[in-house]
Amino acid sequence: MGRIVLLLLLPLFLFGSTVKPFKWNNGESFLTFLERKKLPLALFYKLDKEDQKLTEDIPYRANCQMLVSDKNTIEQVLIPMNDELQLQIYLTPKKRYKMHVIPIVSESYSETLYTEIKTAPYDDILRSTGSERLASKFVKMFKGRVNFKKDIKPGDPLVIVYEQKYRLGKYFSMPEVSGAMIEISGKRYAVYRHTDGRYYDAKGAQFEKFIFKLPIRNARMTSGFTKRRYHPVLHRYRAHVGVDFGARPGTQILATGEGRVCFAGYSSGYGKTIKIRHSNGLTSLYAHQKGFKKGIHNGSKVKQGDIIGYVGSSGLSSGPHLHFGMYDGSTPINPLSVMKKKTEGFTGKEHRQFVAIRSKLDRIFNEKMRTKPLKRKVLDFQNTYYVDKETFKVKAF
Ligand SMILES: [Zn+2]
Repeated sequence: MGRIVLLLLLPLFLFGSTVKPFKWNNGESFLTFLERKKLPLALFYKLDKEDQKLTEDIPYRANCQMLVSDKNTIEQVLIPMNDELQLQIYLTPKKRYKMHVIPIVSESYSETLYTEIKTAPYDDILRSTGSERLASKFVKMFKGRVNFKKDIKPGDPLVIVYEQKYRLGKYFSMPEVSGAMIEISGKRYAVYRHTDGRYYDAKGAQFEKFIFKLPIRNARMTSGFTKRRYHPVLHRYRAHVGVDFGARPGTQILATGEGRVCFAGYSSGYGKTIKIRHSNGLTSLYAHQKGFKKGIHNGSKVKQGDIIGYVGSSGLSSGPHLHFGMYDGSTPINPLSVMKKKTEGFTGKEHRQFVAIRSKLDRIFNEKMRTKPLKRKVLDFQNTYYVDKETFKVKAF
C-alpha cells in the first residue's frame, strides 16, 4: 500500500513543480481560458487564422495538463486539439509565455480480441479490454445487420482486429478496427476495412449504410481533412479538421442528412455556423456562412437536402467557401468517409486488393477461433508522468 502511494505522489512533485491534470470545459473558449488562468491573451491573437480556428475544436473534456511551480506560477500547459496535435504554452527562461503547436507522441499497436458472449457484445468487449470505445465501435459496426438483443446466445464467439494507440501506458484515441466478426449459432457475420477506409461484408457490399450527401451542388473541394500535417514553408504543424468547398458567395448550403439543428449562431473563428445532430450520433458543421435560411434556428428539424444557409466568408475566412465538418461526439472525423458512395461491388485491381485484405483477416479470424486466446489485460498506469523542464517533453515513468 505504502509503495502505491509513493508511486502516485512521486512524479507529481518533480523539480518543485506540480503536474495538474485537468479536463477542458465544454463550451469554454480558448480566450476565456487564458483570461481565467491570467495568461496573456496575446497568445491567442498571435496565432494565425487557421490555428485560431482550431482552438474552437478542442474536444469536450479533453485531457489537459498544467505544470505549476511551488510559487503557483504556470510553467507549462498542454492542451490536445485532436489525437495528433496539441497546444503547448510555456514560460521561457526570460519569463515570457510562448505557445506552439506540437505533435502528440503516441505508440500504435496491432491487437486482436477473441471473446465469447456472456451477456451482450458491448459488456463482454468492455470487460475483456476496458475500452468503451472499442465496445461501442463494434456495436455500431453491426447495427442494422445483427440483432444483438434477439439473436445472440451465450457462448457465441467474436473476434476484433484493430490498431490501438497508447500514450503513457494508457489507451489513447479511437481504436481503428481493420476487421471484425461474430458467429451467431454457427453463422458468421464479418466486416472488412477496405483501402478506402470503409467497411464491407465478405461479398464486398458496403456494410455501413451511410446516408449523408455533400452539402453543396457541384462541389469543388479546395482543402481536405488532416489531423496533422507538417507545413514545409511555415515550418510548423497544422491541422484542418474539415473539408473546404470553394463556391460563389450566396451558393445554397444543403443539410447533409436528416437531423435537428443543435447550433445556429456565431463563433469568432467559424463565423456564422450551423451544426446539425443526426440520429446515428454524428454531428455536421457548416461554417463561414453569409447568412442562414429564414426560419432555421436552434432546434429546427431538417431533412436531407434542405437549404439551411448560404456560402459566405464570415469569421476567420480567407475568402468565400464552405468549411464542412463532421464530428463523432467531439472528435472530428473526415466528412468524406461517411458520404454516400455508389458501390456495385469491386472490379479489377480494387477487387484483387479487397480479396487480399479479406483473406488476411479471415486467416486471423480462423486462427483466433481455433486458439481462443485470452485477452491480455492492459497495464493501466496511473498518471505517472512529468514534464521535462529543459525539453518541455512529457515523459512517462
Ligand atoms: Zn476549412
